[in-house]
Amino acid sequence: MRTLLCLCTGLFVCVPVLRSAVGGPDLERAREARADPLERLASGNQRYRSGKADHFNEDRERRRDLAHAQHPFALVIGCADSRVPPELVFDQGLGELFVVRSAGEVLDDLSIASVEYAVEHLDVRTIIVLGHERCGAVTAALSGGELPGHLKYLARAIEPHIEEARAQLPKPADGAAPGSAEIPPEVLDAAVEQNVRGVIADLENCGPILSELAHTGELRFVGARYDLDTGAVEWLGQPKAQEPASRRPR
Ligand SMILES: [Zn+2]
Repeated sequence: MRTLLCLCTGLFVCVPVLRSAVGGPDLERAREARADPLERLASGNQRYRSGKADHFNEDRERRRDLAHAQHPFALVIGCADSRVPPELVFDQGLGELFVVRSAGEVLDDLSIASVEYAVEHLDVRTIIVLGHERCGAVTAALSGGELPGHLKYLARAIEPHIEEARAQLPKPADGAAPGSAEIPPEVLDAAVEQNVRGVIADLENCGPILSELAHTGELRFVGARYDLDTGAVEWLGQPKAQEPASRRPR
């Protein structure tokens, strides 16, 4: 079950370095910087989707502040889709998000190493896996059939996550090629969500670094879905217990 982003103020868990400016967006952002990472992301998405993104922390002063160190407050694993850049949809500036992107949020050993770097060396403790409406990579995996070149590795990584959705697909007509049947939007939507949950399950079971912190509760994984039509991000509910995918692309 999805929960619409909550914008009320919440827990106070981290205090990053702030600029000295006061008033307007600066004051609002100073308050926000003390909030829980999910609240910060929710506030940023609210600004973005209502056309009020303030593009805070994108100026030369911020660049100079960050030249020798970074302290991102969250990590976002998102699709490479050009319509879903995490920094924009969450209205966050330089140094605020550590971002790992690939089509369909597919992970391999190298992208997992990037996640481990952020956790081990930058102390990031909140990881968002951000799927999105009408994802092309998930569509390709759902359609089945032979994919050319390296695209087959994408499909192989996503397929174990979306078996439930695949079982709901209408059967192709007699003699029709696999994948030729039209995918109902609700089945694609379900597959996007299942893929997000599958990626989270894979990360939670990825030892030794991530699994250890996940099992002690020090590392938080949150699934999310981006709506291409409205610009809204919704948090997904608690993931069901799911086995990690047995295959990953190399
Ligand atoms: Zn996508």
